[in-house]
Amino acid sequence: MALVIEKDVLEPTVTDRRNLVGLGREELGRALAGLGLPAFRARQVWHWIYHHGVRDFDTMTTLAKPVRALLAEHFTIARPAIAAEQNSVDGTRKWLLRYADGKEAETVFIPEEDRGALCVSAQVGCTLNCAFCHTGTQAWVRNLDAAEIVGQLLIARDSCGEWPSPQDVRLLSNIVMMGMGEPLYNYDNVAKALGIIVDREGIAISRRRITLSTAGVVPMIRRVGAELGVKLAISLHAVTDELRDVLVPLNRRYPIAELLAACRDYPGASNARRITFEYVMLKGINDSPADAHALVRLLDGIPAKVNLIPFNPWPGAPYECSTGAAIARFAAIVNDAGYSAPVRTPRGRDILAACGQLKSASERERKTRPA
Ligand code: SAH
Repeated sequence: MALVIEKDVLEPTVTDRRNLVGLGREELGRALAGLGLPAFRARQVWHWIYHHGVRDFDTMTTLAKPVRALLAEHFTIARPAIAAEQNSVDGTRKWLLRYADGKEAETVFIPEEDRGALCVSAQVGCTLNCAFCHTGTQAWVRNLDAAEIVGQLLIARDSCGEWPSPQDVRLLSNIVMMGMGEPLYNYDNVAKALGIIVDREGIAISRRRITLSTAGVVPMIRRVGAELGVKLAISLHAVTDELRDVLVPLNRRYPIAELLAACRDYPGASNARRITFEYVMLKGINDSPADAHALVRLLDGIPAKVNLIPFNPWPGAPYECSTGAAIARFAAIVNDAGYSAPVRTPRGRDILAACGQLKSASERERKTRPA
């Protein structure tokens, strides 16, 4: 049985004080300079917020008391509210976060033996409407800003008890931008948030441990390599444009050949830093041996690995997950061609782990609740 914790504190506090979370280093410096504080104060505050994870100014003991009071008068260090939290028997933890305007997004922590990845959302809802994705059935709402993206990490770090930032061994060691939304349709906020997350005097998660997943916004892919330097994952899911047009409608704008050309040019791709191709296994749709052979041909010349994702069903979904035998057969063909093709183990099945499900469940409950 999964443990479901519905939180009492549902509404985030609304205040006109400015949130320091989500400001870049220079912006933080300017904000504090506006109160007449010197640059080294900004550096101290940054360290308290992102290295020590403090939530209020009073804990910043390297600052004189009047300085702490001045900061508290003008600023906050705000996290999103936790609307719901679920813990799976397999250790997966999922939070539904509620932001200041009441909008909600999900964050999932997936621990493994020697590391753990946080799956971070980039948007509330999504504009892509991929046919098999539950988020695609929900209304598009808005981009998350940098504070709201970084806030997901702060909540997960609080939960893991990993403050101050551990030097070496960490529970929360990796980040995957694979939550709700399309990160490359919210590039500026994602880039800003990642800049804060990788900063060595703060959260300090290195770019090598961050993977950004995209459905294939081709013109932005080069920028990811050149400016962000993170690892790239591509949600491919089909080997013909005909099928990919249906599964990932963005394909109509950026078809497979263009997408793979951008991958061939991706700065920094090498055998050591391969591009991950995600491929959801849909029964009778994209899981035949012929599909597997076609996939291998498509990837020729790209330093690639393939991540086979058993379809995670949701109520009313128009697809089913491939059989274990079909997945094994598919994986063997890709493996024999020299590509690593791990099958992603479904995690947190008992807590509706498919992207978007916790949000839907919470909305259904609210609609049925008397006003
Ligand atoms: N928009 C980005 C990131 C969000 S989705 C992207 O498309 O890559 C993260 C991954 O989960 C994508 O590969 C997506 O196709 C996959 N996914 C979405 N719904 C799924 C489901 N029900 N079962 C299995 N994988 C799913």
